[in-house]
Amino acid sequence: MNEKKIFMEAVGNLGLSMRQYESVSRLYDACFEATMADLSGAADNLRKYRSKTLTFHYNDLTRDPKSGHAVVHFVVPSASNEKNYDVYIEFIPKQGTLFSQAQGAMAPAKKIALLRSCDVKVFCTCPDFNWSGMKYNLKHIYDSYLSGYESIDGVPSGGEDIAPKVRDPQHKNRVCKHLLAAFTAVMTNWMTILKAARTYHVPAEVTPKQEPATPAQSPVQENPVEEPTLPPVPDENISPDENGI
Ligand SMILES: [Zn+2]
Repeated sequence: MNEKKIFMEAVGNLGLSMRQYESVSRLYDACFEATMADLSGAADNLRKYRSKTLTFHYNDLTRDPKSGHAVVHFVVPSASNEKNYDVYIEFIPKQGTLFSQAQGAMAPAKKIALLRSCDVKVFCTCPDFNWSGMKYNLKHIYDSYLSGYESIDGVPSGGEDIAPKVRDPQHKNRVCKHLLAAFTAVMTNWMTILKAARTYHVPAEVTPKQEPATPAQSPVQENPVEEPTLPPVPDENISPDENGI
């Protein structure tokens, strides 16, 4: 969100009317930020179909030291079960981080809505992600590329950062079938993910600066943010084992 803030501050200096300013803000969202639904909606039907046969395993939730945001790691076995691919999804809430937004008691529907509303940056170690232009497109066109997680396989000859001139000249591809499967996995593992975010020990000295929350803007204002060091609030009446791992 910081990048948008800088962008919109600059736009603010152009002397646009409020309506024009809001249009630019919406254009920015459409071009440069994307939720899981935005990314998967653009996928072709064949990849969507193939993703449904994949299994997935929640691995862990960590903190990107650079952005300060939460990154969820899933392991998705290949269709032939010969290999495992690593899928990483960084969650960027409209305000704060997933660590701060996951604090306090919240109805399950609100928690799921929180994950759905996050912008995401993604990475997968599969060859398709590299060869079909997804990596390039996410990096250079859609700003949804999660850097720092390089793959061992699938780097095209001639470098890994080349435009998909043949396979995807119109830059339509954004996510592979493993990422599509992982997006589904987020929805079946939402409780595990939010619990991990809530109990994660965020180092105090490097916690990203929080914007001053106002009642009108904060989606979780009715549940004041607890100190991250407090014991976790008991979750819903569903055991963590029932979340479909
Ligand atoms: Zn993949």
